Amino acid sequence: MTTTLITGSNKGLGKETARQLIAAGHTVYIGARDEARGRTAAEELGARFVQLDVTDDASVAAAYAQIEADGRLDVLVNNAGIEPRLAGNAIPAPADETADSVRATFETNVFGLVRVTHAFLPLLQKSAAPVIVNVSSGLGSLTDLSNPESYTHFYPALAYPASKTTVNAITVQYAKAFPGIRINAVDPGYTDTDLNGHAGIQTVEEGAAIIVAMAQIGPDGPTGTFVSSRGPVAW
Ligand code: NAP
Repeated sequence: MTTTLITGSNKGLGKETARQLIAAGHTVYIGARDEARGRTAAEELGARFVQLDVTDDASVAAAYAQIEADGRLDVLVNNAGIEPRLAGNAIPAPADETADSVRATFETNVFGLVRVTHAFLPLLQKSAAPVIVNVSSGLGSLTDLSNPESYTHFYPALAYPASKTTVNAITVQYAKAFPGIRINAVDPGYTDTDLNGHAGIQTVEEGAAIIVAMAQIGPDGPTGTFVSSRGPVAW
């Protein structure tokens, strides 16, 4: 039995990933910062609930203690993320971004991912086939962001793309440091969720597909890669 923790999985891509992995036989922990939202999603899907705010050391430590006491963790999906449009804002222009606005995005998308990964490494290292999936974004690809032909080129803001480029760098560094763990970054594609004010053009089923696929790779699978459902993504 494979046991999987998905951060930020009370809705959106994380919840759909949970649904698909449960269908594939995983025991899934719905990680959610809000207990009511998390328990509702877990009950709907037949998952376990764990309170987990990726920006809060105490919350992450308590989540670790709960899952360790239950027994095991094989797959960690670092999915929790924020983007300016989540709060109903327009995408900010670079001139309107400040150190504080960039820091706020990094608190969740980058420092949160490191906080959770660092905490759960000891449990993952006890697994026979440990896997980490870092949910990045096509906006994290500097190759595409700087290419006028790319659909991501229009995106003006600083914080969100930089946070996902940093997630990619962290993925590469973790993958080198932990060759016994399969650690990859994925781009789900532009998906209809709260995150982007429902501007995304894919369904959550389509967006979750690459997260689900990379959560199920075996010990001989790739590590240190950045992939979407269309194949490798340029860094
Ligand atoms: P979403 O529907 O807004 O879901 C985001 C999830 O993250 C929610 O469950 C949210 O919980 C949770 N979250 C936010 N801050 C958190 C925190 N501090 N601690 C724990 N959970 C937290 O967005 P989504 O589109 O599914 O996004 C999932 C991931 O996909 C993100 O990393 C995003 O950057 C990435 N992504 C999305 C797209 C897209 O087009 N949608 C494209 C590329 C990459 P609450 O309900 O409590 O807010």
